[in-house]
Amino acid sequence: MGHALSVASEIAPLVKTGGLADVVGALPGALAGCGWQLRTLLPLYPSVKVAMGDAVAVAKFDDLFGGRAQVLVAEIAGLDLLLLDAPHLFDREGSIYLGRDGRDWPDNPMRFAALSYAAAKICADGVEGWRPKVAHLHDWQAGLTPVYLKALGAKCGSILTVHNIAFQGLAPARDLSKLKLPKSGFTRDGFEYWEKISALKAGLVGADRITTVSPTYAGELLEPEFGMGLEGVIRTRSNVLSGILNGIDTEIWNPATDNLITTYKTPRGKLRNKRALEAEFGLASGKGPIAVVVSRLTAQKGLDLLADALPAFLDHGGRLVLLGSGDADLETRWQEMAKHRNVAVKIGYDEALSHRIIAGGDAILVPSRFEPCGLTQLYGLRYGTVPVVAHTGGLVDSVIDASPVALKAGVATGIQHAPDNVDALVRALMRLLALYSNGKRFLQMQRNGMKSDLGWDGSAAEYARLYDEVAAN
Ligand code: ADP
Repeated sequence: MGHALSVASEIAPLVKTGGLADVVGALPGALAGCGWQLRTLLPLYPSVKVAMGDAVAVAKFDDLFGGRAQVLVAEIAGLDLLLLDAPHLFDREGSIYLGRDGRDWPDNPMRFAALSYAAAKICADGVEGWRPKVAHLHDWQAGLTPVYLKALGAKCGSILTVHNIAFQGLAPARDLSKLKLPKSGFTRDGFEYWEKISALKAGLVGADRITTVSPTYAGELLEPEFGMGLEGVIRTRSNVLSGILNGIDTEIWNPATDNLITTYKTPRGKLRNKRALEAEFGLASGKGPIAVVVSRLTAQKGLDLLADALPAFLDHGGRLVLLGSGDADLETRWQEMAKHRNVAVKIGYDEALSHRIIAGGDAILVPSRFEPCGLTQLYGLRYGTVPVVAHTGGLVDSVIDASPVALKAGVATGIQHAPDNVDALVRALMRLLALYSNGKRFLQMQRNGMKSDLGWDGSAAEYARLYDEVAAN
């Protein structure tokens, strides 16, 4: 068994703000079958502390970025965790990234530099004789780890996985010494980004391998339209870049056993969930399809475009249920939209409701402007809820558009449309209505989706291959 340390700021089911947590939570189980034991280093947030039973301290820091800290070993929800207990950084109420005022904690760069430093220290010294050969770093929060690995002389390879390039972990140059970073690395070839420190760039230039969460997004990252200023850096490392599509937890997301819904094995079995959804949201029952959305409400997700496109869909009998939270202006806009009798909106984050909505919907909409992988379209496939998605990133790699040829071959699973474009989205919604009214074709698409291979096996094997390569060097 190889030993690897996964380093992340969130992990499902303990602490989650998005898809990152799902992936970090799934990887240990998935990789165990491929010869790799993965332990996950996570900050000890209050919500994790509550779930933690007995924990043993295996490393201590007298002063980790301004306070005492220790690393605890604990098993929670079947996850083998190393918890960074640094109260001065992580023991605070509010969200894990934002204070009560809804803004980033001002010391976020330092909080996650501490996580990265602790990761490097574990790789360098081991804990209780356990020493990882590979550090698997997730997003900017773990991005500085390669710098510290080098500084500490750790014999450990590293892989950075970019779950979303939009978040880069910038800090002012004056923080260099506060973050224990060597001045020599503050260059254009290092972790300097327009005179700031970029934790993500540190990972991009320093990790042995870079992955992202779908092959299409890996290609997109090389382009200015998607690289968000880091495309040039990524191009210099394209020889070590690859895209590995996320899987989903097919036990949690299994319509045949999901105890949050009325279970079903075939698309027809969805009907009771659809009726329940209508009742729950007071939607008039109708002939038209129910389209659903489960999403963060941010510009990335294209839900402003959906608001513009929706009247045409509603005029033709479509209905919509949206669950989401995020930017205040989008929340307000969707609350307004809910005045229409065929639109239901729940502002909030609600895991159980997300299952009921996905089981009860006929189609799931993901009109993102960019989407590294996207998970809800995968849940949709699994639940016979036909995805209607923008042609970008992982959405391209996971949905087969109902083109004439795909329909003829009987392989279509969803509908794709150009991102960032209201007219294209309206056309896609019209196609949805047409396909839905042709019951046979729609049923075939639902069946195809439910049969899709969405688990982790294939992708875990790809990660394991990378781990093997990195460990061998
Ligand atoms: P991102 O990570 O960019 O937010 P993903 O599609 O990769 O997008 O992952 C989002 C994850 O968060 C999915 O598991 C989705 O079901 C979940 N999710 C998003 N918004 C909500 C919400 N309001 N309530 C419940 N689950 C949500």
